[in-house]
Amino acid sequence: MKRITASSLQRYMECPASAVLPAYSHHNDGASVGTLLHEWVEGYLNGAPPVPSPEIEQWARSPYLLAALDEILEMGAPNTEVKFAGNPMAGEAQALQTLGQRDYSEAPQDWICGTADIVIRHPDSVTVIDLKTGYTDPPPANRNWQLKFLAWAASRAYGVTEASIGILRVWSGGDSAALLPLVKLHELDLDLIQDALANLQADLSEAEHAPDAYLSTGPQCRFCDSLPFCPAVKAEVSALGEEVDLSTDDGAAEAWRRLETVEAIAKRARQALERRAVFKPIPLGDGRVVAEVDKEGRESIDGAVAIPILRELGIQPPVSLSKTAIKKAAKKNYDAVMARLAKAGAIKPGRKYKKVEVVDG
Ligand code: SF4
Repeated sequence: MKRITASSLQRYMECPASAVLPAYSHHNDGASVGTLLHEWVEGYLNGAPPVPSPEIEQWARSPYLLAALDEILEMGAPNTEVKFAGNPMAGEAQALQTLGQRDYSEAPQDWICGTADIVIRHPDSVTVIDLKTGYTDPPPANRNWQLKFLAWAASRAYGVTEASIGILRVWSGGDSAALLPLVKLHELDLDLIQDALANLQADLSEAEHAPDAYLSTGPQCRFCDSLPFCPAVKAEVSALGEEVDLSTDDGAAEAWRRLETVEAIAKRARQALERRAVFKPIPLGDGRVVAEVDKEGRESIDGAVAIPILRELGIQPPVSLSKTAIKKAAKKNYDAVMARLAKAGAIKPGRKYKKVEVVDG
């Protein structure tokens, strides 16, 4: 079985089979924004933030992120990138000493491993904080199995009976960030987490011999590397309806239920195929290819910079600061006004994102 890591626990809890099915390995295009930000935050908390690269400058200057980091520093001396390994069935866990990023080779293969972004040790407890970037919100701390495992492993490794877990959330598409409220875990909570993880370990070893019995489709499929090989998704995507008699209430009701099912299947099929195209573009055989492409959203206008300039130019700032609204307000001076706003840095580029779509091959 592949190494069980904390970052996949959320999905394994829903679908143990995803731990044992074949999986696509990710291609890596170099350091992502998330990785760069993790390194910068680590440096900041250790008193030596590196010069931020252009990709993360907006957050390195963000008053929201700086306030959240100072809040963390006030809790005590933080350790960053702390690796833990644990065997919940045996009730054992330890902090690993290996230096390499995500190097868990020191731990037995059947132990669960994970890296805590930020750990603060207190006399009788430990605080574990995970830095989460991106557009998709992670599960909240009290339902987050990555954090629960790390809290359990840290408490066992350090011999304490209480832990607090929290998420340092950095949202993409701006400079917003916050330390979300911490969740306190008492001794009984940590024992229950150990029991749930031990049950998962048992399910995972059973799933190795009978994966089909441990398959469960749902939102977790979206980020599953095994999706292209998954028999459950394949069955859903291949499902076909049969004829029904719409002249009877029963037949129409059956048709309606089937419509709901088909819509759900179609949604899942799209997700499955989009995920498949991310792993490997799909040539359609007619010159078109389904592939992930880079996109850029619409530019936005920074009101704090733009409004004083518009007033200075004698233009009543519109309620909504869109280009269309400014065009309406500025009339024939539109081009000159936009040039002035651009020069002052009031026009922010649209956010960059990736999207799967059909493109010419
Ligand atoms: S695609 Fe969904 S059902 Fe299939 S293995 Fe992954 S999580 Fe499980």
